[in-house]
Amino acid sequence: MTSQDIAVDLTAETQTALERAEAKHRHEALYSDRAHNIKQSAVRDVFDISIRPGLVSLAGGSPSLAKLPVDLVAETAKRVIAEHGMTALHYGGGKGTEELRELICEIMAEEGIVGASSEDVVVTTGSQSAQDIAAKVFCNPGDVVLVEDPTYVGALNTFEAYQVEVEAIGMDAAGLVPEELERRIAELEAEGKTIKLLYTIPSFNNPSGITLAAERRQRVVDICREHNILVLEDNPYGMLRFDGHPLTPLRANNPDDVIYCGSFSKIFSPGVRLGWALVPKHLYRRFYLAAEAVVLCPSSLTQLLVTEFFRVFDWRGYLAGSRAVYAERCAAMLQALAEYFPAEAEWTTPDGGFFVWVTLPEGIDTYPLLYQAIDAGVVFIPGAAFTPSDAPSNKLRLAFSGVAPEQIREGVRRLAPVIRAAVEA
Ligand code: PMP
Repeated sequence: MTSQDIAVDLTAETQTALERAEAKHRHEALYSDRAHNIKQSAVRDVFDISIRPGLVSLAGGSPSLAKLPVDLVAETAKRVIAEHGMTALHYGGGKGTEELRELICEIMAEEGIVGASSEDVVVTTGSQSAQDIAAKVFCNPGDVVLVEDPTYVGALNTFEAYQVEVEAIGMDAAGLVPEELERRIAELEAEGKTIKLLYTIPSFNNPSGITLAAERRQRVVDICREHNILVLEDNPYGMLRFDGHPLTPLRANNPDDVIYCGSFSKIFSPGVRLGWALVPKHLYRRFYLAAEAVVLCPSSLTQLLVTEFFRVFDWRGYLAGSRAVYAERCAAMLQALAEYFPAEAEWTTPDGGFFVWVTLPEGIDTYPLLYQAIDAGVVFIPGAAFTPSDAPSNKLRLAFSGVAPEQIREGVRRLAPVIRAAVEA
């Protein structure tokens, strides 16, 4: 290549870059107000870092798939395609298949929602899209959505994209505090705000691991009903209680006031991207029409796969095994924290789910600690990600779900000097 060729090439490159910059500038003006509110999730950022070799990731809340019989999944997928080829590979109905919606009712009955009708279920692309549909159907810009403090970062991103005001309500060790909820609703109403939804993760909250106590559950729904606020109950971890029966979901005794979201991601596989919403009858039509408007229909192939797999597989036995795996991992984390972390740190003791929530003394910001932790070979999610304000936070989320007990121990051991240095600074 001659120097002249290189010069021509460089000119072409510069020309392309200039054209792209000019197009970017023009198109910038086309973004909706909503698009300006769409943020990169801090969890996804850390997720990209956490897959670097050698790092122990206590960041992502990944389910453990180690005991899933992948051969049986593959065999079932092959059979489903052989037997239902045209159906499996075609569009289906917007609500999801009748067979999967019936299976979903069976699953919900296991956790205390007895007698739900498959006619009230919409199959969604994970629980994430059920939240999006709810926001789309109910929220105008400027409306208020109440959430727990802290709450799931993915839900915050969804609500913020709909330009709602997200208000976080305090929790204590027994979950959302009903008096706080009442007080904040009264204040917001006095300011003339319209409150549409309470988004709650009552069992094993992501990120805190805290569970809303049984004796508070009805009170929370009653308060919302009194103020005409719909409850959006997100319960992907409910079946993963380490001991004893799952706590009865809010939806069980309040079929007209609660939209219930469930998911196959934590009990089977996040890759099939299947979840559901159980919707009050009088809201169902708009809800499923909105779902249809986004995806036309959920994946026919994965719906058939999941329906058939759950028919041939002892999923109740598998879930019992999963609960034991997570209980062991949680115990390993709690023990390592007690052993390695300084006395100034406090943490939650979850009864199920994937997460432990650590609180450091006031004034410490856990965000900069993440970079020190990465240097030490471990990742976590800083607490600021889980509040609508993004204000500096002295909390951090540790996930025990996707890592073997000895790695959990090693991760906490690596993190401890970073925490100790911050506490002693
Ligand atoms: N809700 C909560 C509380 C979650 O923790 C998650 C996933 N981490 C989701 C919803 C999204 O799950 P899905 O894969 O079903 O979309």
